[in-house]
Amino acid sequence: MTVYLNLELTDRCNLRCRMCGQAQAAQVHEVPETFMSWETWCALLDNLEGYRDDISLCPHWLGEPTFHPEFDRFVRHAFEMNEGNRLFREFKLHTNGVAFGRERAEGLLACASMPNQCPDTFRLVHFSVDAFHRSTYRSVKGGDFRDLVYENIARFLELRAARGLSFPRVTVAFIVMPENRLEVGDFVTHWARLLGAGGKRVDLAGDWPSGHLDAIYLRRLNQQDQEAANRIHREALEAVGLVPSGADFQIGEQSF
Ligand code: SF4
Repeated sequence: MTVYLNLELTDRCNLRCRMCGQAQAAQVHEVPETFMSWETWCALLDNLEGYRDDISLCPHWLGEPTFHPEFDRFVRHAFEMNEGNRLFREFKLHTNGVAFGRERAEGLLACASMPNQCPDTFRLVHFSVDAFHRSTYRSVKGGDFRDLVYENIARFLELRAARGLSFPRVTVAFIVMPENRLEVGDFVTHWARLLGAGGKRVDLAGDWPSGHLDAIYLRRLNQQDQEAANRIHREALEAVGLVPSGADFQIGEQSF
């Protein structure tokens, strides 16, 4: 059995996405925002030793993990301590990709390449992107970082390829909403080209991707009027040919 464990490095974020609690409340946990201490991180990791089930570790919950001032040190330490996967079997990073420059990418890929654990331990980097055009990104995400994020993800893919790594897999996610629904096709075309470079198969998914491939994830918005959100999500899946009109959607693997 796998236990999915989220250890939140911070509840702060450098964006204010319109669909996120970060945009709706000054304090997402209704207590003053903060950063996890080094001592807490080390103690939490130590406590994972000997746990009977496989641990899937994610250093994120309601904030942006890379916003933690010691993010790189925390992650490196976790991998250095994970000799023979004694603490966790897999590691998944969710990020908005804003603070994701070359140095950080190199550091994360160095963790993924550590010979002291299974080669697929660093399983996934999930980038929350949610827009194709710059103006849409600004309106949905609350910051003018579209070009930077696109550049950061593309560089990460290049660096991963240069190291000959299959892991971490990359997911680019797009929550479908009224503001961005008309650019779903452009988003899919763009990322299918980059993720599918060299004829690689890409998972185009309308629900959580399988994790076996790099993926483009067209995600459903959760909101009060769920029927309306479901409708535009459904229309987006139809627009990119993921589901035929009138059929139930399902995860699909496609070659580009
Ligand atoms: S990047 Fe993530 S945590 Fe930050 S505001 Fe957007 S959805 Fe919320």
